[in-house]
Amino acid sequence: MKKIALLCSGGDSPGMNCAVRAIVRTAIGKNLEPIGIRRGYAGLLEENFWPMEISSVGNILQQGGTILQSSRCPEFKEKAGRKKAADILKKHSIDGLVVIGGDGSFNGAWALWEEHKIPVIGVPGTIDNDIDNTDYTIGFDTAVQTAVEAVDKIRDTASSHERTFIIEVMGRNSSAIAMHVGICTGAENIVFPADEVDYEQIVGDIKRGVARGKNSSIIICAEGKISGRSYELQSTLSKKYGLDSRLCILGHVQRGGSPSAIDRFLASSMGYQSVLSLIEGNYPLATVFNEGVVTTRPLSDCLKNKGEYLPHYIDLVKALSI
Ligand code: ADP
Repeated sequence: MKKIALLCSGGDSPGMNCAVRAIVRTAIGKNLEPIGIRRGYAGLLEENFWPMEISSVGNILQQGGTILQSSRCPEFKEKAGRKKAADILKKHSIDGLVVIGGDGSFNGAWALWEEHKIPVIGVPGTIDNDIDNTDYTIGFDTAVQTAVEAVDKIRDTASSHERTFIIEVMGRNSSAIAMHVGICTGAENIVFPADEVDYEQIVGDIKRGVARGKNSSIIICAEGKISGRSYELQSTLSKKYGLDSRLCILGHVQRGGSPSAIDRFLASSMGYQSVLSLIEGNYPLATVFNEGVVTTRPLSDCLKNKGEYLPHYIDLVKALSI
């Protein structure tokens, strides 16, 4: 290994910059030449390359987003796009590639290995925490903390005015943010992405809470695949059950902001580990965090979505929101 490239792909997440910094500095420390690729796989196809130095990544630990920028690239989903990408990497004598992103980006990296034997390492960077076989992904902790702080503020208003609030959090396919935010804010109900909304249950829970003197109710609703879901929830609660509520969609505030200490730690350790793995000739791998340590797994173990949450957590929500 002499020259390695790195890119961020898919949705950005807080802490990506910490991973970029760790990769660049570890590579330089090990006498490798790090090449940043701007704008993810799209930038790879455009040869949007940035030869990086120690100072290129100075003072970015605390910045959200990614200095490399990210993108979605339909062309890379096609075989021809990946062939072009592999040819470009070879043309520039790039010996290995670190991909920081979510499960979609990991699938792209895997295809690059399968079809062209490009040495790849995946670093899980997504607020969704939905990558299989890692307990946490970079950005999740920050996103949950941001949402929790927002819900706490809304709870103040909800209590003052004896109101029910529906708060929509991110998660098209993943329940993780909704679950964690719900538990951490004592939400009365959580609606997960794959759920049919159980109106009877929601209304029953809220009425029971009011009867025992609760002066506010919070329903956390994951955005799900169909946009406008939380509007429908609000409208049905009102029209069919006479339950008045206010709606707040947290949206992209959950994606931005300075990364938490946990995300900085995770990203720094994973970035460092990704370069060591390339140097040792261990690829295609993903860096993962399990049982309290950052380690690696075969990339093929980390291509799938984590799936739905353990019933145990649903029981926990029910047990605590009585
Ligand atoms: P994330 O990595 O956050 O899950 P996406 O699913 O949007 O985000 O994926 C990011 C990019 O990765 C896509 O725009 C595409 O270029 C590439 N990608 C996604 N899925 C695949 C796939 N199955 N095969 C090849 N490339 C893929």
